[in-house]
Amino acid sequence: MLLLVLVMQACNITGRINTYETFGLVDGPGVRYVAFLQGCNMRCKYCHNPDTWDKNAGDELTAKQLFDKAYRYKNYWKKNGGITISGGEPLLQIEFVTEVFRLAKEKGVHTTLDTCGQPFKNDPEFLKKFDELIKYTDLVMLDIKEIESDKHKELTGHKNENILAMAQYLSDKGIHMWIRHVLVPNLTDDEEGLKKLNQFIKQLKTVDKVEILPYHTLGLMKWEKLGIPYPLDGYKIPTAEEVEKAERLLEIKK
Ligand code: SF4
Repeated sequence: MLLLVLVMQACNITGRINTYETFGLVDGPGVRYVAFLQGCNMRCKYCHNPDTWDKNAGDELTAKQLFDKAYRYKNYWKKNGGITISGGEPLLQIEFVTEVFRLAKEKGVHTTLDTCGQPFKNDPEFLKKFDELIKYTDLVMLDIKEIESDKHKELTGHKNENILAMAQYLSDKGIHMWIRHVLVPNLTDDEEGLKKLNQFIKQLKTVDKVEILPYHTLGLMKWEKLGIPYPLDGYKIPTAEEVEKAERLLEIKK
């Protein structure tokens, strides 16, 4: 009886979703169904999804409804595709994501969590929920936006000690990760910072891939539409040489 009540409660967990992408090709391995959730506490200066910041906007769906929407595309996933939950910041809706991933794993679907790690806390209550989530998570795509905490705060509004702790926690628990870093010339490309980031990543045991995401301005229209001043006005997108230099510093390219 208790089990039945718990299952019913889980089925009724709802989440708020900004948008869906049915054929994502850059949000994890293979072809992905990607759900971008509402809500983010960070305010990254280069954010291309500021419309996800509001926790109360978007469509409200149960975990089962979201899973069923995604599962219709299962024929496209082949061997390595699956479901990715992104944001916004999906860890702000951790119970909802856990339930979607639990349903996915019941059907053998690969699950990827795309996160900036900001909600991670080293306290027992949070870790209990987090441990439950990672039981059903095959891959975490973790953004490390800046390795120096003060610079991270300047860029995003939050310090990064808990984010680095999350990367370490995932490594210790054997969870596979892709680490990503957005490269903005004259903002997130300093040589010392990238070398330090590389040292940090190198001591993690479960990083399968490191990616540089070149800064772009495709989200600029969203800032304008929301009437928020764009803090990186005048910043340039990186050249191919700048990307290559950063890739060498992160040992992506030799
Ligand atoms: S963490 Fe992601 S969604 Fe949140 S502000 Fe930064 S880039 Fe935007």
